Amino acid sequence: MRPPVLYPLFAPITALKGIGARTGALYKKLCGEHVVDLLWHLPAGVIDRSYKSQLKYADRDRVATVTVKVVEHNPPPKPHMPYKIVGTDGTDQIVITYFNVKGDYLSSLYPADKNVTISGLLERYRASWVMNHPDYAVPAERAGEIPTHEPVYPMTAGLGGKGLRKTIEQALARVPDLPEWNDPHLMAREKWPAWKAAVRIAHHPAPQAPDSTAPLPARRRLAYDELLADQLSLSIIRAHHKTIGGRSFAGTGALTRRMESALPFTLTGGQRQAIAEIAGDMAAPKRMLRLLQGDVGAGKTVVALMSMLQAVEAGAQAALMAPTEILAKQHHAKLQKMLAPLGIAIGLVVGRTRTTGGQRKETLDALADGSLQLVVGTHALFQQDIAFHNLGLAVIDEQHRFGVNQRLTLSDKGRGVDILAMTATPIPRTLALTAYGDMDVSRLTDKPAGRQTIDTSLIDMARLDEVVTGIGRQIAKGAQIYWVCPLVEESETIDLAAATERASLLRKFVGEDAVGLVHGRMKTDDKDRVMQDFAAGKIKILVATTVIEVGVDVPQATVMVVEHAERFGLAQLHQLRGRVGRGQDKSHCLLMYHGPLGETAKARLKMLRDTQDGFKIAEEDLRLRGAGEVLGTRQSGAREFRLADLSRDGDLIDIAHDDAALILSRDPELKSERGQALRTLLYLFNRDAAVPLLRAG
Ligand code: ADP
Ligand code: MG
Repeated sequence: MRPPVLYPLFAPITALKGIGARTGALYKKLCGEHVVDLLWHLPAGVIDRSYKSQLKYADRDRVATVTVKVVEHNPPPKPHMPYKIVGTDGTDQIVITYFNVKGDYLSSLYPADKNVTISGLLERYRASWVMNHPDYAVPAERAGEIPTHEPVYPMTAGLGGKGLRKTIEQALARVPDLPEWNDPHLMAREKWPAWKAAVRIAHHPAPQAPDSTAPLPARRRLAYDELLADQLSLSIIRAHHKTIGGRSFAGTGALTRRMESALPFTLTGGQRQAIAEIAGDMAAPKRMLRLLQGDVGAGKTVVALMSMLQAVEAGAQAALMAPTEILAKQHHAKLQKMLAPLGIAIGLVVGRTRTTGGQRKETLDALADGSLQLVVGTHALFQQDIAFHNLGLAVIDEQHRFGVNQRLTLSDKGRGVDILAMTATPIPRTLALTAYGDMDVSRLTDKPAGRQTIDTSLIDMARLDEVVTGIGRQIAKGAQIYWVCPLVEESETIDLAAATERASLLRKFVGEDAVGLVHGRMKTDDKDRVMQDFAAGKIKILVATTVIEVGVDVPQATVMVVEHAERFGLAQLHQLRGRVGRGQDKSHCLLMYHGPLGETAKARLKMLRDTQDGFKIAEEDLRLRGAGEVLGTRQSGAREFRLADLSRDGDLIDIAHDDAALILSRDPELKSERGQALRTLLYLFNRDAAVPLLRAG
């Protein structure tokens, strides 16, 4: 249960003065429904109103606060003209202008002969001082009401700045003192204020020196609080998963040894190590939650296969789940071939309508009675009508495309199912900790021997003709080509037209039948057919609008052309590039851009051209584009942060991660005084789903 001390913060915003249902809806859109959401809505900047000067000596075009005596009122002579008030401070005159404001209101705001303090942008117009719509106008004796430093908040249409500031002040007034949950040494080292003070300071920042980019300690503290809550909850969930219902799947080596000697290659050191790490987890009586990271082409599939065989050795079943049907089928075909020498069958389950009735039923029956031990499929594998006899290991390929929830439903298909997730996105450590903090990580850092580097070049779209000619030559030499035209959601139709047009242009050069087109709007069957024709070499150029469809493995494909490369994330481009260079022949990646490119865009593409190190690329991508993009925003299921900014506060994630581990090792039930404070922290950041998993509840 949420601690009562937090109740005032979790009241709906509409409980605040002046917020009805209509305004409440605007606030909901802006920041959220609860008072606490207002606290997390931090200012984007601050207006400095401390500048005061006699008008005669004042700086122009600067926010100033001046006190003037009202000299005269000039109502607008015509409806569309401004209302003008003339004032003086004794050194010079100023014209204060208002559009569309009622005269009687202005008469009461600016009584004749009275001193009024105004604050706003001070400008010169035709040799006269002017202030349009002062932000503040108060009787001089109440000048103290004008803040010297005023926070400026991100806005939404329909809400006024003043109203928002007032509402946030109301929220700030509700902020309770909370017991400190942070380590005192960390607090001292980072010079962080206490929580309540930090919230206040974050909303009332003193203006910083213009060249200072250092975040305020108060903001860093709040970011850390959020990250700690996140890491702590992930650690609790992980500890829980590992202890609840875990089973031991120890291998005998009977199958894995035979499999290894049947492989047409020797395993790399990285593969061996990953296989050993997974084997250790599976043999332990805890549930495995492990992420296998490896660049495209690093050879994750065989690692998965060895682990799946270990499950079979232990008398259990293993399933591999792929994000698309094409990939599922391709995995299935490959694994079936690899398994042939062992005489072990592997089933395939894709969408209900996709596998023919009889065969589907046969596969499902065999999974249910345990006569089939291995299966590959799409998420269809985890639908209701599918029962496993004894599922022991679930492997999820391209993990980041599945949400956290889907990951959890896997557990329902068996008792204490071990989970191995595989991703080709070379996620930097900081990001891995936040998105996959509840998992252990194995990394394939080496590539299979004999892998070639891929020649990457940047080419202006203006040189399309040359590219097409060059491609004709490659095809004559027997090469196959991927040609990617990105589909951007906002302009789907236009982009699709562009891809269709590209396909027909290429057809003119290389022949009608040599070019295939796949795009997201096609029926799966049609897509499959084109893909299979490409894999079989019947089609020479595959024009595609989506990234995922080119996730297939075609060793003869040696050229990757990407149009509008500037629209892609670096990590995405790197993955696309990894689709070639899988065979013996030299491969090329042509990144075509629509110039002129800005400096940053150019630097990004050059960096990609000059390095093949996926991790370096991902770090750079994170820095330039932010976390959501790197993970693939919508599908990621990654947590959103309100206060932490992963590119700015990345160093804090490491600290929070270690801190969380230390906290739980000392006080696994969060019973100590600090533990109680940490529970409050979890509730504060809505990470309280973890709380019931603490043994003491
Ligand atoms: P990914 O990590 O992208 O899933 P795959 O598992 O599809 O990579 O492997 C890519 C290719 O490399 C496959 O054709 C696979 O057979 C091959 N491969 C995997 N491991 C090795 C190895 N140790 N030596 C040589 N080739 C390998
Ligand atoms: Mg793969």
